[in-house]
Amino acid sequence: MKYSLYLGKILGVKIFVHWTFAFLVGWIVISTMRAGLGVSAVLWTLGLVLAIFGCIVLHELGHALAGRKYKVQTKHITLLPIGGVAQLETIPENPKQELVIALAGPAVNFIIVLILYPFANSHTLLDTESLMNIGASNFLFFLITVNLWLALFNLIPAFPMDGGRVLRALLAIWLGHGKATRVASVIGQLFGIAFFLTGFVYSPSLIFIGIFIVLSAQYEKSLVQTVEFLHKYKVLDVIIRDIPSIESSSSVKDAAQVLLSTQNKNFVVTTNGKPVGTITRDEIVKAMETVGEKGLIENVKSAKLSYVSESTPLDEAWKIMQGAKSPLILVGMNGSLTGIVEEENIAELMLLQSAAAMSKR
Ligand SMILES: [Zn+2]
Repeated sequence: MKYSLYLGKILGVKIFVHWTFAFLVGWIVISTMRAGLGVSAVLWTLGLVLAIFGCIVLHELGHALAGRKYKVQTKHITLLPIGGVAQLETIPENPKQELVIALAGPAVNFIIVLILYPFANSHTLLDTESLMNIGASNFLFFLITVNLWLALFNLIPAFPMDGGRVLRALLAIWLGHGKATRVASVIGQLFGIAFFLTGFVYSPSLIFIGIFIVLSAQYEKSLVQTVEFLHKYKVLDVIIRDIPSIESSSSVKDAAQVLLSTQNKNFVVTTNGKPVGTITRDEIVKAMETVGEKGLIENVKSAKLSYVSESTPLDEAWKIMQGAKSPLILVGMNGSLTGIVEEENIAELMLLQSAAAMSKR
């Protein structure tokens, strides 16, 4: 994610924190100080928030490690003021695998609760004074409460919460992935509407959560529709035989010239005709800024190469491109290219087919 600070690697997963996090820390310091609390209370509150985000990292790591069990790589975990996001490359369509990955996050929070519980002072629950003032006596109590809340909130059966995936995975055992997603997204939308309506009575923040849930359900549904649609086609149907390429020894200036003189936006970077990477229009523009026009394409290309064969179902190729966040994928075997597929062509195929379907009605 853009504008994120790299914190380090835990168990091979890169952890980032988004810059907006600084706002959260600042807001806590200012609001606790304005409430007239002393320095130690401010520090305890800040400590609690950092501990909560530590638990969120562990929650996301739970997803990541469960994914690794099924060879699903997690690119990174990013911490936002609203929580954490684990960027898994693909979500498996196998219901059992999705179920295990989805449950692994909330399970971590339940485990934290079980570990901390014997050490917490339960009397603080009734002491309203201490609810305002976080200190050594009620720190663990708060941490336990938040972890319980994190586990339960994430188990609400609506996308994008883990519970939405749990529900879909359970339904998919009988209904299959596509139908299960449609049913799960309808149930999720009902939850979203319920949040939205109760928001007017209780808290405006619920209104936003409600809208977010409804949109997420819509997104999951359209994702499945796209995959089902593309599954009817093969890479061969949208292959581009005329491969736009740039030599790796070219300068950024040369690449910019190619960009201006052609319609192409995505290029295969080659060394002596052999593919060694890819570069997009945006990457060339960015290179102009970072390394300047004399810089070499060799040093700014994306080195990751993903190959599909001409008979690969189009949904599979599309998913690989989505996972890699790349607008193109190579067709052929290691080193020998027969063509490329671009995201834009897939979008055109979808546009054309939906227009054709409209005219038949
Ligand atoms: Zn989760």
